[in-house]
Amino acid sequence: MAVDSRSDPERAAEIAASLSEVRARIDRACSAADRPPDSVTLVVVTKTFPSSDVSILQRLGCADVAENKDQEARVKVAELSDATPALCWHMIGQVQRNKARSVATWADVVESVDRLSLAEALSAGAVAANRRIEFLLQVSLDPDDASGRGGVRPIEVPELATRAMALPGLALRGIMGIAPYPGDPDVAFGLLESVAQQLRTVVPDADRISAGMSGDLEAAIRHGATHVRIGGAILGKRAIVR
Ligand SMILES: *Cc1c(COP(=O)(O)O)cnc(C)c1O
Repeated sequence: MAVDSRSDPERAAEIAASLSEVRARIDRACSAADRPPDSVTLVVVTKTFPSSDVSILQRLGCADVAENKDQEARVKVAELSDATPALCWHMIGQVQRNKARSVATWADVVESVDRLSLAEALSAGAVAANRRIEFLLQVSLDPDDASGRGGVRPIEVPELATRAMALPGLALRGIMGIAPYPGDPDVAFGLLESVAQQLRTVVPDADRISAGMSGDLEAAIRHGATHVRIGGAILGKRAIVR
C-alpha cells in the first residue's frame, strides 16, 4: 500500500497539515453557528489505515478514533495498547450479533446500536469483560429504509432507548446518523436534531449527536452535532471505498 511505503516523518507532516485544515473547518463552522469551538469533538475515522497512522494522530492530540470492522480494529487496538494517554476507540460499523462479544472487549463507544438484540449482546459482552461501554443509537435518516446503512427509524428511538438504557455494562449517551447521499444534509441533520431532543426527554444525559463526515461536517455542526466523524479529509483516500 502506498500509505505504508511513505516515511513516517513525511506521512506525519501530511496528516498534521490536513488535520489542521479540518480543525479550522470545525472552528469556522462553530463560530458560524454561534457555538463554542470546544462543543464539537473530532473523531478521526481510521478504517483501512495502518496503526502507524493512528499513532501519528495520537501524537497530534487526537484522542478519539473510529473503526468499522471488528477484526481490523482488534489488531490496531492491540498494537496501540501502550499508547498514553489512552485512545478512545469508537465502533461506527454495523455489528453482527455474533461479533458483539468481541466488539465489547475493545470498543469504548459503540455508535451503531440499532436494535435491542444487539444492545443485549453488547451488554452481555461488557459484563463478561468487566467493562462499561458507552453507546449511541444509530438513527436511519433515509426516507426509505432500503439503504442498507442500518439505523433505527426515528419513531422507534424512544422505546429502544427506554429498553436499552436498562442494560448492565452499557451507558446510553446519544444518537448517531449518516446523511443519505445524494440528498440535502441539512434536512437529514435537522431530522437527527429533532430525534435528539425527543431522546433527551427520555434519557436527559444522552446528549451526544454524532453527525457529519468529511463532506458535510458544516451542516452537521449547524444542527447541533457534538461529534463529527472524519476520515478522508484527514487521512486521504481509502484503498477500499465503503
Ligand atoms: C467511513 C465513515 C466515516 C468517514 O467518512 P469520510 O467521508 O471519510 O470522512 C464516517 N462515518 C461512518 C459511519 C463511516 O463509515
